[in-house]
This record gives sequence, C-alpha cells and structure tokens, in this order.
Amino acid sequence: MHADTFDYIIVGGGTAGCVLANRLSENSKHSVLVLEAGKRDTNQWIHIPVGYFKTMHNPATDWCYNTEPDPGLNNRSVKWPRGKVLGGSSSINGLLYVRGQKEDYDDWENAGNPGWSYENMLPYFIKCEHQERGADEYHGQNGMLKVSDMRIRREVGDAFIKGAEEIGIPHNDDFNGATQEGVGYYQLTAWKGRRCSSSVGYLKPVSNRSNLKVVTKALTCRIVIDENRASAVEYEQDDRNFTVRASREVIICAGAINSPQLLMLSGVGNPDHLREFQIPVKHNLPGVGENLHDHLQIRSVYRCSVKTLNDEIRNPIYKMLIGMQYFAFRTGPMSMAASQIGIFTGSLPHINRPDIQFHFQPLSSDSPGQGVHNYSGITSSVTQLRPTSRGNLQLRSANPRDYIAIHPNYLATEEDQVITVNAMKVSRAIANSKAMSQYVEEEVLPGDQVQTDEELLDFARNIGETIYHPVGTCKMGPVSDPMAVVDSTLRVHGINGLRVVDASIMPVITSGNTNAPTFAIAEKAADMIIGKS
Ligand SMILES: Cc1cc2nc3c(=O)[nH]c(=O)nc-3n(C[C@H](O)[C@H](O)[C@H](O)COP(=O)(O)OP(=O)(O)OC[C@H]3O[C@@H](n4cnc5c(N)ncnc54)[C@H](O)[C@@H]3O)c2cc1C
Repeated sequence: MHADTFDYIIVGGGTAGCVLANRLSENSKHSVLVLEAGKRDTNQWIHIPVGYFKTMHNPATDWCYNTEPDPGLNNRSVKWPRGKVLGGSSSINGLLYVRGQKEDYDDWENAGNPGWSYENMLPYFIKCEHQERGADEYHGQNGMLKVSDMRIRREVGDAFIKGAEEIGIPHNDDFNGATQEGVGYYQLTAWKGRRCSSSVGYLKPVSNRSNLKVVTKALTCRIVIDENRASAVEYEQDDRNFTVRASREVIICAGAINSPQLLMLSGVGNPDHLREFQIPVKHNLPGVGENLHDHLQIRSVYRCSVKTLNDEIRNPIYKMLIGMQYFAFRTGPMSMAASQIGIFTGSLPHINRPDIQFHFQPLSSDSPGQGVHNYSGITSSVTQLRPTSRGNLQLRSANPRDYIAIHPNYLATEEDQVITVNAMKVSRAIANSKAMSQYVEEEVLPGDQVQTDEELLDFARNIGETIYHPVGTCKMGPVSDPMAVVDSTLRVHGINGLRVVDASIMPVITSGNTNAPTFAIAEKAADMIIGKS
C-alpha cells in the first residue's frame, strides 16, 4: 500500500472502529488505516472484567471527561468516562450485554431511516455474537463478540430476584431474546472470565493482515474537506503532524463526544458556533453536537444483615481468596460485570413496555469505582430507559486537544422527573419485599427522611450519575430533518466520502446499555460501505 494513501481511514479504534477495521480489510485489495488516540490495550486490567475499577477514571485508558455543572443535578459536574485505548469504551466498560427493545429500532426506521427496523437489525446482532448458550432464532455462535453467563452469584442477589418477582416482575433468563421485560442475571461480553472488547474480538484476530494498519497515540485533529469531499485526515502523534489521504472514505468512529467535536473542528456544524472560533465553515449542519442524551442512574444503597462483597473486599484474607479463585477458575468477584442482576419493567403498573432498568450489585460505595463502604452494603441502581431531556456539546476552542464542553441537561423534562421518581419507588418496593426484608437492615440511600415526590426528585438531582451511555450527537435522520447529521447509510449530509459510525448516530437512545447496539450498528455499516446491503 502507498504509505500515506488508504482506501478507508477509520478515526477511532473503539467499539465501532475495530468492527469496521476487521470487516473493511476482509478484502485484501482494500487498504485500511485505523487512527486511535489512545494506546494499545496491553494493560492487563483491561482484560480482567473487574479491572474497570482500575481503568475507569485512569488517564492512561480513559479520556476522563467531566460535564459542565448541570442544572438538573443541582449544578453538580459529574465524571463522564470514555475509553481512550484500543477497543475504546468496550475496553473499560461494565461488560453488560443488552440489545434494547424491538420498538427502539422500529422507531428509528419510522423516523425516516429505512433499513433500521428490528427486523433489519436482528441479523446484525446475531452476526456479531458468539453466544455461550448456543445459537437460536435470537442468538448466533459464529460472531466475534463473545457473550457468556455471569460467573458469580450471591445469596442476596437471588433474594433481590425473588423480591422483584414478589412485586409482579416476571423472571427472564434472556433480556436479548423474545422479550426484554423481567428480572434475571445479565449476560456479559466476556469469555471464560476474560473481557471480550472490540479490540480482542475483532482486531486481534486480523492484526497480521498486510492491508490493515493501526496507529495508536494518534490524535486526529481535522478531516480535510475539499469541494464537499473528505479527502484526507490530519493527525498528531508524539508532537509530530501527519496527513493521510483517503481514496474511498473517511469513517469517523470517535464516539458520542469526540465524533461531533471532530466534525466541528473540520468545519461541519452550526456556522455561528464555528465562526466563534474562526473555523472555516464547510457545511451547515446545526445538529452536530446537539440531541445529546444519556441514561442517568439513581443509586439506592442498603445496609444488610449478611456479609456482602464489601466485607470480602475489605478482608485481606478473602481478598487473597478472590484473587486465587479468579486465577484458578476465572470465576468469582474478579470475573464480574459492573452489575450482576437486571430488571426491565414499568415505572407504573399500567406501563407495558419497560421504561426503567435496574442494575443490582452485591456491594456499595459512595460512587462507582470508589472504595467500598465499611459496612455490609448492596446497591440497586435504577435508570429511566428513554429520557426525553436533551443536552448538547459546545467547543471551547479550535484546538483539538481542548475538551469539548458537555451539557447533559439531565432531568429537564417533567416526564423524566416523574418516571425517575416512580422508578425510585419501585426500588423501595423491591427492598421492602418479603424476600429482601430478611436481608435489608437499613435504607442508607435515599434514607427514611426522603419521602415525598419533591424529596425523591431532589435526592435524584443530588446523587444521579451517568451510567455511561451518551448518544445522539450526530443523529441519523433524513435530509428533511434539519437536525440530522447522517443519513440512513450513515453518510454525513452534504459531504461526500465521509461517514460517522458509532453510538453518536443513534437518533434516540436504545432501551438498555449501548455497547451491543454499537457493535450491530458497525456491522451494518460495514455491509453498507462494502456494498453488501
Ligand atoms: C465506564 C463505562 C461503562 C460502560 N458500561 C457499559 C456496559 O456495561 N454495557 C454496555 O452495553 N455499554 C456500556 N458502556 C457504553 C458502551 O461501552 C459505549 O456505548 C460504546 O463502547 C460506544 O462505542 P463507540 O464506538 O461509539 O465509542 P468508543 O468505544 O468510546 O470508541 C471511540 C474511540 O475513538 C477514539 N478517539 C476519540 N477521539 C479520537 C481522535 N480525535 N483521534 C483518534 N481517536 C479518537 C477513542 O480513544 C476511542 O477509542 C459503558 C461505557 C463506559 C465508558
């Protein structure tokens, strides 16, 4: 291949970027370059599931974003981790494998995006997947994303399941099968106790392809757009500047924060905003960086009458045993995802499509990733699945190294406030169930003093944090939608040879965790790019 011209240049080697790197380089005639701002994924904590406690909030693997003070969170600024390493956020995430609901994709299609219905997307979920339980009409076994069952159980977790069943939530062993509704154990993107990131699943197996080049520590600064065509990419590495040319396409896979920032730096965005920073306007797309939304988690913490992981982790002998268990059998706490048990249900009894999701953990801390409490605690965190509040991203300067300002605008709409308050009541109902009251000694958070709807909402504003699912900032939509950034083939409106393929293209967030949907989006995009669909 010619040293500085490639058929395809992929910006960002994260969840979506690694999928595309694999698929686009399948044809040995196509040269493919991946530019990743982070390093190679050699840190061993990346590959041990519970290692997210070491890689999240760690500048060696995480961009370590903080939001602007958010009015919806009583003006608190919260941490927004994003993976900065090969594999991207799939290298540091909580490993939960959740596809969302059928209606999510049908709604995307109905918003003017042909080809994105659930019927269209299911084959891509199946194509991605290597399912431990075997293949069936919803699951695949030939894919590169390994999916397996949880390798840790605790009595108090099983009581949580029984408690949920007691209040009428059905049991569900497969949130990604016929129906999402119910309570049960999550599956995770891991295999035999090791994380399966997009880098491990998709990139490593093809790293010897001579037509695929991966450059790390390469911060892409700008897409060069000549006469409405993306012709080249400028990046910097070790204080040196490089330009590489794309003969077919540039594909931006930099994630929901960085993809819109890169478009803006390249002159694609709201012209007034770009002119504030003297960025020459290449194309007027006011939707770039808008439509930002995320899942906000509200954690309830309970003090228990039985020992929880808090006690195991604080006890040096147990801690050693946990390590030995993992290294001998790859099971136990070190193999666990960020949550073990999930619930998808309605925030009120008459709601028949789940609008809230729970993440249960047999441990507790002041904030995810911080040290555990010095009492026997558990956490039940709840999130509204389809928030209607929208925030945005705004440049601070034209310097690609300057972080963009993140305005999440959580809990801005009345609908979000009502659902969040009702969700917290469901949390309480489970904790007060017969099954759980044998274990729960005290509700530490929110606490007995928090009772009225106003108090619950204020508590949510004081404690709410991201559950790490920002999406929507380069939303897919038809040209008739002035806020759409990409069309249904993920091409940037008005620019040739340029696509965005990552979580930023979701017009509306999926009803669940966003990693599995991003894998499927990238598989579908690969087919569109090479002309298979
Ligand atoms: C801490 C955490 C926990 C999570 N837990 C879960 C979970 O349990 N289950 C789940 O389903 N989802 C989870 N998610 C969300 C999920 O991982 C993301 O939605 C998904 O990985 C997004 O994929 P992406 O391809 O859009 O972006 P990413 O995977 O973030 O990839 C973007 C890549 O682009 C690179 N990049 C950015 N800018 C540039 C630039 N200018 N030049 C070069 N490279 C650049 C980044 O370094 C990164 O590698 C979690 C996320 C985080 C951060």
